[in-house]
This record gives sequence, C-alpha cells and structure tokens, in this order.
Amino acid sequence: MNVLRIYIATTNSHKVEEIREIAPEWTEILPSPEKIEVIEDGETFLENSVKKAIAYGKKLKLPVIADDSGLVIYSLGGFPGVTSARFMEEHPYEEKMKIILRMLEGKDRRAAFVCSATFFDPQKNLLVSVEDRIEGHIAEEIKGTGGFGYDPFFIPEGYDKTFGEMPKLKKKLSHRSKAFKKLFSILPRISGSENL
Ligand code: IMP
Repeated sequence: MNVLRIYIATTNSHKVEEIREIAPEWTEILPSPEKIEVIEDGETFLENSVKKAIAYGKKLKLPVIADDSGLVIYSLGGFPGVTSARFMEEHPYEEKMKIILRMLEGKDRRAAFVCSATFFDPQKNLLVSVEDRIEGHIAEEIKGTGGFGYDPFFIPEGYDKTFGEMPKLKKKLSHRSKAFKKLFSILPRISGSENL
C-alpha cells in the first residue's frame, strides 16, 4: 500500500497529536516544515480551514490538511465561534473561561465544539472539506488540566466530566477526531483510488 505524506497546516501540537491518533495507516502525518502566516478573517470555520489549507498547500507544493475549530455557545449567539482563539488573545485561557462563565450566568449552557477539516493536494488540484461537532454544555466551574484551550469547562453530552478531566477520552470523542475520521474515510473514494 502506498503511503500518502500529508503535512498539517498548524503549529498546535495538541491538534497534531489528535489528528495523528485517528489517521489511517495509508497516511503519514507530518508537521509543516514552516509556519505560514494566514489571516483567519473568515466568517465560518469552513472558510478559515480552506484558507489555511490553500496557503500551506501552495507554499509547500505538497498535500496538506488544515483544521479550523472553536467553541460555539448557543445562548451567546454562537460566541466565541470563529473568534475562539482571538477572544482576549493576550490572556490565559483560565481568564477567558472565567469571563465566559460570568456571561453565562442565568443563561442556557448548551454548547458545541466544531471542527472544519480540509484536505488540499495542489498537484491534483483536489480540495475536500468536511465539518463535524461534539455537543455538550459549559460546566459551572473550570475543572481538569488536560487538553488545551477551552477543554477544562466543556462537558460532552452523556458525561459529567470536562474534557480537561478526561484528555485521553477527549481525543477519541472530539470534534476534531470526528471531522478527520470523516475526511479520511471519503478521501480515497473522492480521489477515485484506494489510497489517492
Ligand atoms: P484555530 O487554531 O484558529 O482553529 O483556533 C481554534 C481555537 O478554538 C483554539 O485556540 C481554542 O481556543 C479553541 N479550540 C478548538 N478546538 C479545541 C479543543 O479541542 N479544545 C479546546 N479548545 C479548542
């Protein structure tokens, strides 16, 4: 079986780790050899992940995958959404989460993590994008030290612990894991061959 080398358009080691965990054996997932500045000004996760994949793919001239993801809180109109990273960017996540907990007082706490995953092969001019999410709610308090970002206050549906308290399970359940499983399962069919 031919192995397809795919570079990840991110410098976030947590994302690389989560994607590697579910990548099929016909892929070799490698961190990008260089960081490329991409202005993430899209209005949707899809737009931003496509933007990142095209920027990295065109520069590296090799197949790449990109992820754009974030936390969506329904009662706050989807906030922080595509601004998940940029919201209070200079501040630690503990502070960001504390502010959100205050914004949520007396409000519905239902939320989801969303991930848009894009594959781009500049040589074949093939671009495939999928999106998936994990539903849950925002905990009453910040708990756990595992994972990254907003993990310590997000409780996935069917559980009573935050992602921060169960980082191993998070890697299996996450929006990223779901989106990339979907992407890797359709890629061979879309490209018309077993392993691209
Ligand atoms: P991106 O790197 O532009 O996709 O920004 C994603 C941001 O969304 C991260 O910096 C986090 O704030 C948040 N985020 C996305 N995925 C996760 C996750 O799996 N756990 C916690 N926070 C996440």
